[in-house]
Amino acid sequence: MSTPTDRRPAIRQALLIHGIVQGVGFRPHVARLAADLGLAGDCRNDSTAVIIEIEGEPERVEAFIRRIVDDAPPLARITSVTATRTEPRGDAGFAITASTPGTGPRTMVPPDAATCAACLQEMFDPADRRYRHPFISCTDCGPRLTITLDLPYDRHTTTMAGFPMCPECAAEYADPAGRRFHAQPIACHRCGPTLSVVTPDGRTVASGAESSIARIRALIEAGEVVAVKGLGGYHLVCDAGSDAAVGELRRRKQRPDQPFAVMVCDLAAAAELVELPEPAASVLSGPEHPILLLPKVSGSTVSELVAPGLDELGIVLPYTPVHHLLTGSGRPLVVTSGNVSGAPICVDDTDARNRLGAIAAAFLCHDRVIAVPCEDSVLAWTPQGPVPIRRSRGYAPLPIAVPGMTADPAPAVLAAGAEIKNTAALARDGQVFLSGHIGDLGSWESHLAHKTATDQMLRFHRRSPELVVADRHPRYASRAWAGRLADGLGVPLLEVQHHHAHLASLAAESGALEEPILGLVLDGTGYGCDAGIWGCEALLLGDGGTSATRLGHLGDVPLPGGDAGVRNPVRVAAALLLAHGVDLAGTPVAEELSDAERRLLTAAAPARVGWARTSSAGRLFDAVAALVGIRHRITYEAQAAVELEVAARHSDTVVPLRFPLRGSPGPVVLDPGPLVADLADAVRAGVPAEVLARSFHDALAAGLAELVAVLAQRHHPSAVGLTGGVFGNRLLTALLRQRLGTTHRVLTHHQVPPNDGGIALGQAVIGAATLARRSGASSNSGHRQPR
Ligand SMILES: [Zn+2]
Ligand SMILES: [Zn+2]
Repeated sequence: MSTPTDRRPAIRQALLIHGIVQGVGFRPHVARLAADLGLAGDCRNDSTAVIIEIEGEPERVEAFIRRIVDDAPPLARITSVTATRTEPRGDAGFAITASTPGTGPRTMVPPDAATCAACLQEMFDPADRRYRHPFISCTDCGPRLTITLDLPYDRHTTTMAGFPMCPECAAEYADPAGRRFHAQPIACHRCGPTLSVVTPDGRTVASGAESSIARIRALIEAGEVVAVKGLGGYHLVCDAGSDAAVGELRRRKQRPDQPFAVMVCDLAAAAELVELPEPAASVLSGPEHPILLLPKVSGSTVSELVAPGLDELGIVLPYTPVHHLLTGSGRPLVVTSGNVSGAPICVDDTDARNRLGAIAAAFLCHDRVIAVPCEDSVLAWTPQGPVPIRRSRGYAPLPIAVPGMTADPAPAVLAAGAEIKNTAALARDGQVFLSGHIGDLGSWESHLAHKTATDQMLRFHRRSPELVVADRHPRYASRAWAGRLADGLGVPLLEVQHHHAHLASLAAESGALEEPILGLVLDGTGYGCDAGIWGCEALLLGDGGTSATRLGHLGDVPLPGGDAGVRNPVRVAAALLLAHGVDLAGTPVAEELSDAERRLLTAAAPARVGWARTSSAGRLFDAVAALVGIRHRITYEAQAAVELEVAARHSDTVVPLRFPLRGSPGPVVLDPGPLVADLADAVRAGVPAEVLARSFHDALAAGLAELVAVLAQRHHPSAVGLTGGVFGNRLLTALLRQRLGTTHRVLTHHQVPPNDGGIALGQAVIGAATLARRSGASSNSGHRQPR
């Protein structure tokens, strides 16, 4: 490449590249780049970084450094590049040299990545030695986190340790020019894991890839439910086109309504089921391969029972070789987490047969152990791009860089997360590492899963936390666990209010922790500082994220009978109407309440016996869904709110509903009384449910916008943040954007979910900032709860 004439004196740079740069084809990338640019030097790994010495013409060295980052391999994540000028040595050529030990633990584990195009090409090439190999992978794809037992990430610290490479695989592993150089999970038909089909009572009825796949496909085609061992756990799988099969899966899993995801063989097949704009197709087929929620098209072949009552479908493309063999070019498949209600996903073969044996007719197993459970990630598609609903496979354990948090070695902080949709987090050195989705901590099994995930996180990072953070809720299992951990370690426990953590998570991922953000935090349930249940709060973030001031909230929405009330929105609607002196007569609430419910609620109403005080937006959605006749009892979390949003999307007509602000000075309160009175009148007047659903969304957006206007005038926030599980509602988010976008910078979630799956990030950054402030000379303010 270089011409001998007009050559300028060579320079030499020593480069240190940190991030996920090992086992992802980084050194071959560096060597190719050096050859391309005619540069000399060498490249090696140590335990913490890739170390490069590069020598040549200054412009070319500069281009080299730029292209190292710009053209990085698909799975590499560079967190920093440090360059130091050294003396040129006159090297000839570029070499990859032996790894050196290094000074610290290797701390980055890559996330799992979907089978890449090059591997697929080989997999379906009859002449290739990995033709139809169910575990084909390379540096650009395959399992990572889910096979990691310990660090440093090497073959012997993964669950591939038990599969010694055959000479051909070993040669590829050692070839710096190839796509499998130091790719830990590589294998082939000779040396890799194998597939088998096992019955619930443990008999092996097929073994080897072809007969196992054929057996399972035949069962699916016959309408059976089967279990399939995937990357991060088992899935339950059946024919998505068969009402009988999907109905049977629902019956056996005791999951009457909650939507299932559908796996289709490719993008063309996806486009037959859902509206698929180009940017959504890229998300669907990216290395993460999440489940993406997209609008259903009419007349698709998928059973109505897959996502009953909803206008969207969760679509996922095959992301392992086994999935590709299974889907072939065949019909769409339901793929849903292989768990029993309330418990975490099954990863162990025997455990899976024990727990799923009554659901699945057969188990497609393999002998590669799943070291870290990891559920599928779920994103919702919006015109502004995807919104994370569940951040797990493909994303975890990638860290979230938090601008403003010190990147220097800083004390580690462990955050225990919330109670439902639990994730845990470890903050250290300017980054927050989130676990995959652990789930709802109601059961003993999920409690164990939470402990395992946090133990793994601490072990991988070789760090002991100097602070443990938990939700303030006295009855959260995560809070109890965090207390025991802090006691055991002899470190403090910091309790952070639920909605404060939501807002801090949004500020952290937006790089706005230091700013006075006005947050609208809307969700179902969070323990408030007055021991009431909060859930529609206007909080002002301050003191580098460590304080939150409650400036406004939703008025009185009573919750009769705790969890039973949550499962029966009609009771919440009745209590809301009674509390605000609105007559139930002539509404669907009056029709739907049983006599016993009516007697109990009417008797309890005057003194509110057994009714919790809440400001919960989630409960308001439930009540409105019941009041307008859309949903009275639910079988999965947020079902009523989701169906209310679906109905609202089907109407452009809006009737006016009052939703006034009250109270000044002191927190401003959005009064739901007039709103429910107007809704009840409109229901009695026969206004269609879709129109009322839409009108409610509009009235809520208008009320919140007015609340923001009042508070912004007093407090001058730098931006308005929308967070909390309710902002999984894309219609409400869009309506608020319309109303606020012209006068305010509006922050929404792009990296972590707005729901409780994002709480751990907020807890972690509040903890880290609290420690930093305590140790800082200028301030000793620590952390302040919302007042
Ligand atoms: Zn590959
Ligand atoms: Zn091999």
